[in-house]
Amino acid sequence: ASGEEVASGGEGVRVMVRVRPPNRREQREGGAPALSLVGPRTLVLTEPSRLEPVVKSYDHVFGCESTQEEVYAVAGAPVVEHCMAGFNSSIFAYGQTGAGKTHTMMGEACASEAGGLHPDCGLTLRVFAALFRAIEDVERGEGPQTLRYRISCSFLEIYNEEITDLLAPGPALQIRDGDVKRGVYVQDLSEHNVLNADDVMVLIQRGSENRHIAATRMNERSSRSHSVFTCTIEATERADTGITSTRTSKLNLIDLAGSERVGRSGARGDQLTEARSINKSLTVLGRVISALVERQKRPAVHVPYRDSRLTFLLQESLGGNSKTSVVACVTPAAESATESLSTLLFASGAK
Ligand code: ADP
Ligand code: MG
Repeated sequence: ASGEEVASGGEGVRVMVRVRPPNRREQREGGAPALSLVGPRTLVLTEPSRLEPVVKSYDHVFGCESTQEEVYAVAGAPVVEHCMAGFNSSIFAYGQTGAGKTHTMMGEACASEAGGLHPDCGLTLRVFAALFRAIEDVERGEGPQTLRYRISCSFLEIYNEEITDLLAPGPALQIRDGDVKRGVYVQDLSEHNVLNADDVMVLIQRGSENRHIAATRMNERSSRSHSVFTCTIEATERADTGITSTRTSKLNLIDLAGSERVGRSGARGDQLTEARSINKSLTVLGRVISALVERQKRPAVHVPYRDSRLTFLLQESLGGNSKTSVVACVTPAAESATESLSTLLFASGAK
């Protein structure tokens, strides 16, 4: 490690920032970008309320020219390895609406092209393509033991602290704190077996359409809700003696609600409920992550998992032997500097 090594979130939590390219309108309306990179881990932000530029360092910073493949290599590949080793992992995309969360997690074109993935394809499909490749390698391998995998997926949305199944829309579902074997789970959430990355793609498309339908009906709901795609990996090992044992790990890919302060002024009724629930779950997520980081130094620290649906649901994949990656997305535009600052501060708090 070099002398300029940044204090990272420790083993379990990694925090990255991704700056998206300016869009056409931002380019046209011009102005100097508020954000710039200083090396691979450090950002400088000029924000009107601050006299001095804000300088922050993270485990990694992706500039606006970063490709989906690079983001996968840094944020996704370690997670795949961790899951194959039998541990839980989560990747979160955080940031204001329009900052690139869905682009990062899902990407524009998810169709796999002959011979590989589309360059715009996001983290989720890349993670699954790599996961299935790794599984094939293991299953093909000849050893004294044989490992067989079973993969199933679920896709849900948390909106106003209410959980709905994106793959089997219906009434709101409840979280149960089950027995030791089952742990925390969502009652009646549909589980779908998948055999390859294409199966996963079909589920994601179906779920995203359901999220999208709700969006047009309910005032951009998709930017106000958290979507959680969970994959359960069951590895069953059969030794020569005939004894079998099964190891289960979970991989969660979370596209968070927009972090902008919705309805800070003039919100009433439903809008206010919505604003409060979003801010609550994002605030709690921030507290949970910083408590996890803190706990590596002080084991007695309380982690407030139970304070939001999202963290309650994911508690077994946050902390302990789990790996958590947060990709905080920001726009370089000067007009968004205040929101970008708040995203950078969230990401620093998580670090
Ligand atoms: P969010 O999910 O955070 O609201 P999106 O991912 O939908 O934001 O991104 C907003 C727009 O910006 C989309 O049109 C998306 O294609 C584009 N975009 C976001 N990030 C990038 C990127 N890194 N490169 C190119 N286009 C991007
Ligand atoms: Mg989005």
